[in-house]
Amino acid sequence: TPLSHIRNFSIVAHIDHGKSTLADRLIQATDTVPDRDMKEQLLDAMDIERERGITIKANTVRIEYTALDGEDYVLNLIDTPGHVDFAYEVSRSMRAVEGSLLVVDSTQGVEAQTLANVYQAIDADHEIVPVFNKIDLPASDISRVAEQVEDVIGIDASGAIPVSAKTGEGIREVLEAIVKLLPPPKGTRDAPLKAMLVDSKYDQYLGVICIVRIIDGVLKKGDRIRMMKTGGTYDVDDIGVYRPSMKPVKELGPGEIGYLNASIKQVRDTRVGDTITLEKNQTPEPLPGFNPSQPVVFCGLFPVDSAEFEDLRDAIEKLALNDASFSYEMESSTALGFGFRCGFLGLLHLEVVRDRIEREYDIELITTAPSVIYHVYMKDGTQIDLHNPADMPDPSTVAHVEEPRIKATILVPDEFLGDVLKLCQDRRGIQMDLTYAGSRAMAVYDLPLNEVVFDFYDRLKSVTRGYASFDYQLEGYREDNLVKMSVLVNDEPVDALSMMVHRDRAEMRGRAMCEKLKDLIPRHMFKIPIQAAIGGKVIARETLSALRKDVTAKCYGGDASRKRKLLDKQKAGKKKMRQFGKVDIPQEAFISALKMD
Ligand code: GDP
Ligand code: MG
Repeated sequence: TPLSHIRNFSIVAHIDHGKSTLADRLIQATDTVPDRDMKEQLLDAMDIERERGITIKANTVRIEYTALDGEDYVLNLIDTPGHVDFAYEVSRSMRAVEGSLLVVDSTQGVEAQTLANVYQAIDADHEIVPVFNKIDLPASDISRVAEQVEDVIGIDASGAIPVSAKTGEGIREVLEAIVKLLPPPKGTRDAPLKAMLVDSKYDQYLGVICIVRIIDGVLKKGDRIRMMKTGGTYDVDDIGVYRPSMKPVKELGPGEIGYLNASIKQVRDTRVGDTITLEKNQTPEPLPGFNPSQPVVFCGLFPVDSAEFEDLRDAIEKLALNDASFSYEMESSTALGFGFRCGFLGLLHLEVVRDRIEREYDIELITTAPSVIYHVYMKDGTQIDLHNPADMPDPSTVAHVEEPRIKATILVPDEFLGDVLKLCQDRRGIQMDLTYAGSRAMAVYDLPLNEVVFDFYDRLKSVTRGYASFDYQLEGYREDNLVKMSVLVNDEPVDALSMMVHRDRAEMRGRAMCEKLKDLIPRHMFKIPIQAAIGGKVIARETLSALRKDVTAKCYGGDASRKRKLLDKQKAGKKKMRQFGKVDIPQEAFISALKMD
């Protein structure tokens, strides 16, 4: 295909504004997939993605479209994850295309992820076509959304296309706009091969599949390629395009997007953003480098049943083959035994990995409280990266501690603004900006990441009844008065419950934690003290009183079936508990105890 007849684009949107549905309609309107094979959300392949309605890996599809000018065009859509955890993945796939459709739900308006994603598109120098979706709904208000797009984002909305991805209205106009308004890619056919590795994923049958965008030159089956950053060389077994199923092609030329398969063993051997060239005829100038995405949230994963440790290792190693952004190392905890300390891009990423281990590998897990990486500066001049609060050195040897901060953008209807400001204040936030657009406020806060990783988003949703949207980016490290708080149950320290806290809030957090644990730990035959401490100093204390009588005898008298049910339930509950000294602590305690209400 000549460059003039190729268009490469992505779709940017806030979650649920209709990105996947629009992609489905574009695929359908161009007969890319026979109607009988059409199912909803074609591009969201993984199970968990479907269930949670999120796209985790970049996907691509090639659409062939005969435009009203009578010419045949090839349109390549790269679908990217829309969630804040995967912002980095969005940024790199954006660089593989020249334009974006900006989808805004016309019943909702611009939201925080609309902003975050469109700024990525602007950064990548995209031509942007606004698309106002859901016009079939009575609440749709196009002029209000147009005003918001112009005021808040600052791009011209006069050419915005009203559509209903549900009914198909306006889809033809979108296809025409892609052809007319988005620029064709640039590139030189007879230059040495220069291709961008956009993403790679693991396929059970085929091994590692790379999504590539050809910048210059031509890629063919049988070529010996070199990954310029990793230095790996491979023979190309197969190349092709996604329609959206894999379809082999003879060659991929400049401007084209497709896949390559070269017997690469694991995703870890590939570096997204790397430049692919020919071993024999290398491009003199690799693409500007990308920073690999770094895990920012860490937690421990331990098997509930310690006999399953090897199974857990196996599961984690397999998952890691397909997910280079996930890190792990073995960890042993006096309380929980052997497990892994794992690093994730964010909380959603953590949940996805944890769910997959539990579901696909059938291993029940204890997840310890998520933590960020602290920079601990020692009095002897050395510095350590603290991934686990349990490893915090003795305070007398520490000079100071720095924590990661974020810039958070929150959009919220006026009526909830007060609650949002209070929430940010409670989480040690510093207000950077507060502006209004229509009946909505946009608050920008500098917040400690640690105060956000745990349950900030849940709290935000609940105080605003779901009407706020939130996005953040990492800003860097700053010093604060941070200390390690330990928790002792029955006078034994439970290392998995220790956490880093701000000194001024330690008493409050300690009290809340002890109260929570008192509710979460079942009563035993003896009295159990629960304490929070900094260094050797106890800052909060609760006592769980002893159990007096057999509960079942007392509550249920002679009803045998109810009694059995209760015992079964206790047994099931037991499985999810771990013993700490003489005390059983249920697994949900590790997460619940840290929630701040
Ligand atoms: P994504 O998160 O941006 O990929 O959004 P989806 O495509 O998954 O859409 C979110 C929800 O909005 C789904 O329930 C869709 O069926 C619905 N939806 C998408 N487009 C339209 C539309 O044009 N009209 C209506 N009424 N619903 C839509
Ligand atoms: Mg989607």
